[in-house]
Amino acid sequence: MENTMDVVKLYDYLHTIPELGFEEVKTAEFLAQELEKLGYKVTRNIGKTGVIGEIIGTEPGPTVLARADMDALPFVDAQGQHYANHSCGHDAHCSMLLVAAANVVGKIKKGKLRVLFQPGEETLRGALAVIRDGIIDDVDIALGMHVRPIQDIPDGTMSPAVCHASSTFVTIDVEGKGCHGARPHLGVNAVEAAVLIANALMALKLNPALAWSCKVTGIKGGYVAPNIIPDKAQMIIDARAQTNELMDELMTKLTRAAQGAAAALGATAKVTTPGGIIPAAEYNQELTDEVAECIKEVVGADKCMPIIINPGGEDFHYFVRKFPKIKAAYFGVGAGVTPGLHAQDMHLNKNSLHNGAEVMTKMILKIMG
Ligand SMILES: [Zn+2]
Ligand SMILES: [Zn+2]
Repeated sequence: MENTMDVVKLYDYLHTIPELGFEEVKTAEFLAQELEKLGYKVTRNIGKTGVIGEIIGTEPGPTVLARADMDALPFVDAQGQHYANHSCGHDAHCSMLLVAAANVVGKIKKGKLRVLFQPGEETLRGALAVIRDGIIDDVDIALGMHVRPIQDIPDGTMSPAVCHASSTFVTIDVEGKGCHGARPHLGVNAVEAAVLIANALMALKLNPALAWSCKVTGIKGGYVAPNIIPDKAQMIIDARAQTNELMDELMTKLTRAAQGAAAALGATAKVTTPGGIIPAAEYNQELTDEVAECIKEVVGADKCMPIIINPGGEDFHYFVRKFPKIKAAYFGVGAGVTPGLHAQDMHLNKNSLHNGAEVMTKMILKIMG
């Protein structure tokens, strides 16, 4: 079947129907119907609002997951009205993947292709939701992509790998003992313990050759009355590390520092990560090399950029974290994203989306054709 889909027209349409995570009803239904028209076996409501489409080849081979995220971001306008906008380019990802899905129809020989339009990436719970629905268990190879801002790579170029960091929000609940401000020796000041913890965290040491960071982004406690020694305080920490091993080490040292600093004053510190820990990227080198080859074929060797080290998080990496047998690759599409991802007035060069659709098409056919 010849591809009659146009990535720019698809993008223009999807851009007009931005929906927040797990509310992508119109987007999902549109994509489901397009996949059905192409002859895919479609299943709706995966991970609440996600969609998968499958094509099975005639010969045995790997199960290949090609994934795009669907959700938009929440904003508030000058009048105080809440609205959604595609400021992370997930509409671009859906357009590129749908075109690739159309391009490969009739050409899949080996294995099973599973096209996934994933909900809720920005909530960082979307990948976990589709995992819970059991559609990742049998996956051998996972392919993903993301448009890149001008800060990363120039418009029209591509990178074979976007190496996201592991990231998490840590909550530290500090427990002391309240008492009268005139008799502080009878209590344990939880706010003072939190300050000591903050200082201990700023003295943490990890291998400086690797990228990591640990920032106190909130402390609250006290304010009951100026003459009451506060018994409780809570801290929020934004922690990131380039690899999963480094994140494990950071969490161990952070927990020890928090508990030790609290104990120095007779307080306790409970360290939790209520939103979980987003895994770092773990890519298969061979597959990444193949992506680089496809990029060179599509945009030329001079426009194939080095891998991108990115301190941001991406829930795609739960797939490999939960199923280590999966070989993954995830490429960056230089699309002149300006002023940057997550900017309220984000815009991109739609014409560069052809490149992403082409590379995804070539990768699928390289593995399955
Ligand atoms: Zn985003
Ligand atoms: Zn995104």
